[in-house]
Amino acid sequence: MRASLFNVPVPLSGCDEVFVMNTFTDAQALVSQDVADLLDRLRREDVTFESATAEEREAITALSADGFIVDTHERERADVRAHLTSLKEDTAQLRVTVLTTLQCNFACDYCVQGDHGDVPAGQRMTLETAARTMQWIEKRLDTVRPESFVLTFFGGEPLLNLPVVYQMAEQAAAACKARNVRMLINIITNGLLLTPEVVDRLMPFGLNGVKITLDGAKELHDKSRPLRGGQGTFDRIVKNISNVAGKCRVAIGGNFEDGAGESFIELLDFLKSQDFAPFLDKVAFKPVIRQKPTTPKGFIPLTAVGDASSGCGSSARIASTPKTNACDTCHFVDEQMIALREATSAHGFRTVDGVHMGPCELHRQHAHTIGPDGVLFACPGFAGDAHQAVGDIRGTDNDRFRRAAAEFAKITSWRESCGDCSYVPVCGGGCSVAAHAEQGSMHAASCHKTSFEAGVAAFARAFANDAANQPPSPA
Ligand code: SF4
Ligand code: SF4
Repeated sequence: MRASLFNVPVPLSGCDEVFVMNTFTDAQALVSQDVADLLDRLRREDVTFESATAEEREAITALSADGFIVDTHERERADVRAHLTSLKEDTAQLRVTVLTTLQCNFACDYCVQGDHGDVPAGQRMTLETAARTMQWIEKRLDTVRPESFVLTFFGGEPLLNLPVVYQMAEQAAAACKARNVRMLINIITNGLLLTPEVVDRLMPFGLNGVKITLDGAKELHDKSRPLRGGQGTFDRIVKNISNVAGKCRVAIGGNFEDGAGESFIELLDFLKSQDFAPFLDKVAFKPVIRQKPTTPKGFIPLTAVGDASSGCGSSARIASTPKTNACDTCHFVDEQMIALREATSAHGFRTVDGVHMGPCELHRQHAHTIGPDGVLFACPGFAGDAHQAVGDIRGTDNDRFRRAAAEFAKITSWRESCGDCSYVPVCGGGCSVAAHAEQGSMHAASCHKTSFEAGVAAFARAFANDAANQPPSPA
């Protein structure tokens, strides 16, 4: 009998209680210092059930029920391995992210491509490729037989290719209906072309939500996300949000740079004052990671746009694409980001909790990213790098695809690098795209443990507040 490897204790200031969260079972509890000490002794094997007092045995029984105490660590490690494997093989959901185009109408200053010129043919999906992609998706639906299908449109700016969006949404909705599969459509967009007409057209096919990027308050946003002609985009995007909020779920993302905290607080104040504020589904900012001198050529290690609920939006993007993309799963966090997350909650917006961040969709066998030319990638972060392509919708079988697919299949960074870290069940070793860029290996861990620690600390404060505000139980 041992204390779980995945317990994270947080002593609460000003009282004698300790918040404990188990990242594997997701159990959370406020315990007395005595019980926290008992868990510590169990971890060190200083006490057994037999040597425990009657009071301690009672506590042990209760804590075991929630997974805070386990039989053996070997068994627990095996359970976590089995959990991560079952996640990989999970067939409940089929997820496909389609990059309708790599073109973009913005000229974001952090976009590595820089010239923002016209992209070559093949970087905009044709209707024919869209139709073939749907045939491929239908085969996957028949093979995987999921309960739900999540289709995410991404780019570049996906709404620059509306004919493909409409055609695929309509055909996918029909395919799902015929198979009795629930369908959800997400769009990750810069928001400029998001009109009520687009939303109305997609709602009957299962539009679930749109995610729009605002990089701080107007002045900063206009500077960092201008049109290719240099004009600001903030006002038009806000107007578009106002026009569609209430029709569908709208999430706001933002690319946060060091020192931009004030502008983001100003943005939060602004959003809170808008009539559409109650309709915002989520607000979550991510740091921009500038390209390091050591970063492989063509890598765009930005982060910021996706939908955490779908695993990854995705961000860190390898390739010479003209548009920066961002991932919502991997959080490159520093103290400013943690403070911003807390400010977002304090403004009344739902945001990421900093704990339930992964493992990301790279670890899911039934999550695919499809480029505009029909090439398949393991996750959106690797899209565009031909060396990382794992296949295509035509079923082409070649050594390069096979090698890349085999490489992705064996990614288990947490096994090689993370030991008994308490966050393995919710992290899985972090973003492989970031690891590939920063450390030269997608098999390395990309560790942002401080982010998880800050997330659990925030849970602890919220839990303690809730407990303090409970009405006294009747005598
Ligand atoms: S990457 Fe870091 S936080 Fe994640 S499981 Fe590994 S050691 Fe823990
Ligand atoms: S590897 Fe990184 S970019 Fe890819 S899905 Fe995971 S968190 Fe997102």
